[in-house]
Amino acid sequence: MTHWSDCQRKKGLSLSFVPTMGFLHQGHLSLIKEGLGHADKLVVSIFVNPTQFGPGEDFDTYPRDLERDFNLLRTIGVDAVFTPDQSDFYPQGFDTFINQEKLPQHLCGMSRTGHFKGMMTIVAKLFNVVNPDVAVFGEKDFQQLAIIRRMVKDLNFNIRIIGHPIVREADGLAMSSRNSRLTPDQRKTALCLISALEKAQNSLQNKEYRAAVLIREAEAFICSHPDTGIDYIKICDPDTLNDMTEIDRPALMAMAVNFGAIRLIDNMLLNPNK
Ligand code: AMP
Repeated sequence: MTHWSDCQRKKGLSLSFVPTMGFLHQGHLSLIKEGLGHADKLVVSIFVNPTQFGPGEDFDTYPRDLERDFNLLRTIGVDAVFTPDQSDFYPQGFDTFINQEKLPQHLCGMSRTGHFKGMMTIVAKLFNVVNPDVAVFGEKDFQQLAIIRRMVKDLNFNIRIIGHPIVREADGLAMSSRNSRLTPDQRKTALCLISALEKAQNSLQNKEYRAAVLIREAEAFICSHPDTGIDYIKICDPDTLNDMTEIDRPALMAMAVNFGAIRLIDNMLLNPNK
């Protein structure tokens, strides 16, 4: 991979990079199209990274289909697909991880201990191997994007990070590889995520600025659906991810909810001036 990247650079070509865990959907493809506009060549990586899954999480059941992914990528002009082997990437004796102090303590970091440490480590490794000029990440994983922006600044990676808006199904469900594991009933129920976010934005427009009230409304709404388990619903500052009590400026509403064994996340920027 590094040799291929070096060859492109020697030709004076710039590289953009989209890291993924595969089982690609239109959300990934939208990131790739964005990336194609920012550099001469585009690399996609597909790697289900074991170090960002905790014990009891869905590493084993995470959907995988490389053939299907390759076929999709062939249609949209990707220049290289990097699929590292787990034992090559984490050889015997691997013992170095990247950490960050503040941002990982919020939202998904509260229940997924070690997730962001694993995520940062793999992204840093991929950055070192692929050596891109630009990398594109989705705002669907808002906290991940914030952490990577911080990491790139703090550790002097010479890579421009681009955030891409959430891509949704026609009915509003945020696209996710994990959606493929939902039963038809869970798929219908999962629409409560986007509905809860839209309800909060409506309440805000009706001048309800208290975060606690909006969160309570969202919790009650989601709990009224069968087979749902809330991990968290938060309203926070989009830069620090610290909780906000009064929505007197744009605020991030973010949530993680379990539908049976499938954990989905979603978020929306709530704007009091809308
Ligand atoms: P994943 O394969 O889930 O690790 O995601 C790879 C990249 O795609 C990450 O930067 C995600 O934030 C992004 N992504 C996944 N789903 C979506 C979506 N529905 N809209 C926008 N970006 C997404």
